[in-house]
Amino acid sequence: MAQHLVVLGAGESGASAARLGQREGYTVFVSDAGRGSEQYLQELATAGIAVEIGGHTEAELLRADVAVKSPGIPETAPPVVALREAGIPVISEIEFAARFVHPDATVVGITGSNGKTTTTLLTHHLLHMAGERVVAGGNLGDSFARLLLDHAPQDIYVLELSSFQLDGIVRFRPQIAAVLNITPDHLDRYNYSLDAYADSKLRIAHNQHPGDHLIVLQDAKTIAPARRRNPTRAAVTEITPATAIQGSTIQVGAQTFALGTGQLRGRHNAMNALFAVQIALQLGVSAEEIQLALDSFRPAPHRMELIATSDGRTWINDSKATNVDSTYFALEAMTGPTVWIAGGTDKGNDYSPLHKVMGDKVHTLICLGLDNEKLKETFEWVSRIEECQSAADAVQLADRYAGVGDTVLLSPACASFDLFKNYVDRGDQFRASVQQTAG
Ligand code: ADP
Repeated sequence: MAQHLVVLGAGESGASAARLGQREGYTVFVSDAGRGSEQYLQELATAGIAVEIGGHTEAELLRADVAVKSPGIPETAPPVVALREAGIPVISEIEFAARFVHPDATVVGITGSNGKTTTTLLTHHLLHMAGERVVAGGNLGDSFARLLLDHAPQDIYVLELSSFQLDGIVRFRPQIAAVLNITPDHLDRYNYSLDAYADSKLRIAHNQHPGDHLIVLQDAKTIAPARRRNPTRAAVTEITPATAIQGSTIQVGAQTFALGTGQLRGRHNAMNALFAVQIALQLGVSAEEIQLALDSFRPAPHRMELIATSDGRTWINDSKATNVDSTYFALEAMTGPTVWIAGGTDKGNDYSPLHKVMGDKVHTLICLGLDNEKLKETFEWVSRIEECQSAADAVQLADRYAGVGDTVLLSPACASFDLFKNYVDRGDQFRASVQQTAG
């Protein structure tokens, strides 16, 4: 008899897992406690897959042989608890999809607190430009299941993986795994334990075989202890930015690569490039091909995105900086007088590490949020502090206070949900206002 798959959550990962399950011969039922999104409900309806929305019918869930849980649903959610109590395996879409990958394919898994998307896209670009049959997805763009549904079998799958996705793996095994960095984020889902969050990232290496590769940041404070708690059989390469990054060149093994000729700005992107280049070399791409691809890479929007240079001023959109660590690198990358636009939904942030990298560069802080008290208090020493509640007003203020040679940097260090739909909406509104103002 056909195996029965229950999918919790009708989003990108849920809908695609359901369809992949159907293709692989499962009977499928999808359950979403919310209203679901039109696009995915339509996709499921077209495929003839049964769906319930607005709640979970426990009896239906318990018919499952296996359940796939969307990464947004916590372990403590009642349907997950009920499934586990009934002894039904609850896995992530990554785990499910991995079971249907061609055995000769190479899976590259990339995780970390910051830089996952950039490193995943860069790795894909390096491999694609070298002529490899490769696709990228996972936590960005198309889910892993959708990559399998929509593409002919590929030689290489490059996957961005969040800690939530890794929590739900059992046998998933990337032949090459990368852990870029681990800094506090999402701790509300990990009992406020940085160790628990780090362990979840290191799960990426749990099932690796001897001969597989794990590439990790050399970090004595968080990653090294997590590695000791989570041994792997893979060969480990440690990345040491302090010695591997010299100005705008990076050193990987015996090879030196120039970043200054491309669009990878800032030390954080040099760190991301160290990982992507290491992966590409591991997969046999030549140094010459890698250098050419580094030169032609375009970073994704909202990540240190150069929007305009006009009247001697530079405008940068780093709306994706939703935590303090990513804003740290943005401020560090500033080379002169800066108008900094920050703020939004504070996730219990400690802004104090930023003082050091701001130095005397930031002369104006524009707080863009509903509640700016903490920012104002922390940075009371900045010469000018302004407040506003729309991207358009932030740009007006920045336009007034930025002089010739200044950079205006939107790098919020906060989530965007107080005033915007999400970070994309925040960045898009900022870009549109800048283009109107700075033309
Ligand atoms: P993720 O997918 O992990 O959220 P992104 O590549 O989308 O990472 O970048 C998110 C934010 O973090 C951006 O503001 C970006 O400038 C910043 N960032 C990128 N790489 C790093 C890094 N290695 N360390 C710290 N911050 C980074």
